[in-house]
Amino acid sequence: MTLPVFDKFRVRPVINACGIYTDLGGSVLSPRVWQAMYEVNHSFVRMVDLLDRSGEMLASMLRAEAARVVPGASAAITLSTAACIAGRDGNAWEQLPDTSGLKNEVIIQKAHRYKYDRMVWIAGGRLVEVGSNNGTNLLQLEQAFASRTAMILFPAHLESKAGTPSLEEVSRIARNHGVPVLVDAAYMNDPPSLMKSFLPRGADLVCFSAKYFWGPNSSGFVCGRRDLIEAVAGIDFTRFESGKYLTFGRPWKMDRHIIVATVGALEEWFAMDHEARWSGYREKVTAMRGLLSDLPGIRSEPKYFTMDERLLDNPVNCMTLQCPGGAAQVEQVSADLLSGDPSIATVVLDDKLVAAVDTVLADQHLAIAERLLKILRR
Ligand SMILES: *Cc1c(COP(=O)(O)O)cnc(C)c1O
Repeated sequence: MTLPVFDKFRVRPVINACGIYTDLGGSVLSPRVWQAMYEVNHSFVRMVDLLDRSGEMLASMLRAEAARVVPGASAAITLSTAACIAGRDGNAWEQLPDTSGLKNEVIIQKAHRYKYDRMVWIAGGRLVEVGSNNGTNLLQLEQAFASRTAMILFPAHLESKAGTPSLEEVSRIARNHGVPVLVDAAYMNDPPSLMKSFLPRGADLVCFSAKYFWGPNSSGFVCGRRDLIEAVAGIDFTRFESGKYLTFGRPWKMDRHIIVATVGALEEWFAMDHEARWSGYREKVTAMRGLLSDLPGIRSEPKYFTMDERLLDNPVNCMTLQCPGGAAQVEQVSADLLSGDPSIATVVLDDKLVAAVDTVLADQHLAIAERLLKILRR
């Protein structure tokens, strides 16, 4: 497989059998979204207007008071933290990440610590852990609030962790203290109705990553309480250029193409036939397994590779393979796939090779199966 543009950069294209990962490029933009970006490229626009209008469109889709496109869920965490610390005070927008004289503590349950929580620090926030790895009780949570508490960060994908209070419980306590709750729901978008569930359950702000709804890898948005979204808007890059203050948010800059692509991708995500999408995955997995069915000693299964990298039975979006040589052989097969031409990226989980098809384009699943046949017949 050659692509002239990648030849020029001397990088090899990759068949992505891992799923939506930032470091493999995120997802793929639809032709309609691509067309919108192309059109936008032929005209300038006042970015403040485009951000305001796109925010209104996202807010009405999510049934939120307000929303703002930002360059990804990580950026959303940083800018939302800044908004919760600085509020609508322009001098504070300029002062960040120096938080002298401002509330700067961000509560997080210890069992909720995760890699993106460090985005809080960038805005000058200081994480305050509550509870233990085994969970948090409501009294501990109640006692964690102090006069310097600016926000509580709640990663939605960790809500089901044993011993941790629900979003409703956390929000109720936070509300009593007048502290906003930011929910990182980066990939909680399937089914699309899930995206609307966090605000009614008590969140003040909810952020999403566009990569997971087939928008740009460099985009996302935050939605929720109008006063806080206004603070995000006040802090962001446009106000640095055209407002009164040299705001903290200037580096989180976006192109106009990215903004229209984010809204366009979410509209398509809401309108999509998701059952057809899932049955398409199942068909690809069935076809791959069919091609590999005669290999002696190789066991393949249709499975669900979850966003948090576990294997369940349903709905099917991947094929797993086990080899007679166990984990060592599986590691070797994955390495051979990656170093071959075209390069094929797969996941190894324990003694299983995982080939996820969400991001496997057109007929690439057949190329994967054929290469596996070659490698495993050796
Ligand atoms: C990918 C991800 C992020 C970061 O999102 P970006 O849009 O890539 O910045 C944050 N939280 C979770 C849970 C994610 O999976």
